[in-house]
Amino acid sequence: SRKIQPGSEELVNGILAGDIAALSRAITLVESTNVTHLAKANEIINACLPHANKSVRIGITGVPGVGKSTFIEAFGKHLTSLGKKVAVLAVDPSSTISHGSILGDKTRMEELVKDKNAYIRPSASGETLGGVARKTRETIILCEAAGFDTIVIETVGVGQSETAVHSMVDFFLLLKISGAGDELQGIKRGIMEMADAIVINKADGDNINKAKLAKTEFNRALHLFPAKSSGWIPTVSTCSAYEKTGIDAVWQTISDYLELVKTNHYFEEKRKDQNQYWMMETINEQLKNNFYHHPEIIALLEQNKKAVQNDELSPFAAAMILLEKYFK
Ligand code: GDP
Repeated sequence: SRKIQPGSEELVNGILAGDIAALSRAITLVESTNVTHLAKANEIINACLPHANKSVRIGITGVPGVGKSTFIEAFGKHLTSLGKKVAVLAVDPSSTISHGSILGDKTRMEELVKDKNAYIRPSASGETLGGVARKTRETIILCEAAGFDTIVIETVGVGQSETAVHSMVDFFLLLKISGAGDELQGIKRGIMEMADAIVINKADGDNINKAKLAKTEFNRALHLFPAKSSGWIPTVSTCSAYEKTGIDAVWQTISDYLELVKTNHYFEEKRKDQNQYWMMETINEQLKNNFYHHPEIIALLEQNKKAVQNDELSPFAAAMILLEKYFK
């Protein structure tokens, strides 16, 4: 039997009152593929919008094993100790395939889970990164309306998900560990270029010196990138999420960044740009979705695929036939 969702207004009132159960139910609507749920979700998001935006949104990326969840736990606990309310979200499009999400594992962030000033929500699932990212972005708005002033968005450092997360946050942090002098190998240039801070984790025990060396190398490498339009010069620091050292310094760096970009108005400008970008992304996502799920298109697509394979139609002619059919 399906649970009947309480009315949208009731959920909005619950969210604005900081009720976590209401927040979770609204997020479930956002993540649903049911059209009635989505209509309700849109109503709720619209009602929440005027109460959102008063936050800092921080993106955290790094390859699996670098210590993201350990770091977010230590960082999140530090933030709640400062009186902040922290929501931790994730963008992990692979979770649909692997049936496990990066925040789905209950054993992760054990301390933070128990903290009443923290809210942890695993990645939405979806067929496409665009779909997962849209749901996360809407979830940010709901969390902010519920009074969370610090939004942390985790993503795995593989594929395109960093770019999606970068486009929904104010500050982007790249978590690294030191290797054997080959720190700069295997990092996609684009990810380094997006980073406002590089934090080298596991700077403890025998690793301390290697981490310091890595810090020097990253600092040198960052100088090769063009200046950021925010006016911010990316920082490199070391930390141990395990021993909880260097965590407060990360928050200090973010605070310094916020002071700069709020003074030079880059903060609002970037958010405005991001809003426009997300409008366009939502249109793109919906168009694609509707197109590929349209029953007539599904049939004709298969037909045209075969025709292209058999050289009966050029790929361009085949595409135009489909598009004309759809937009007629
Ligand atoms: P994730 O996959 O990036 O989320 O990484 P996890 O947070 O799950 O950490 C991966 C492994 O590294 C775990 O065994 C952690 O205990 C360990 N780890 C995380 N942070 C540190 C740290 O600061 N120092 C050390 N020595 N180990 C750490």
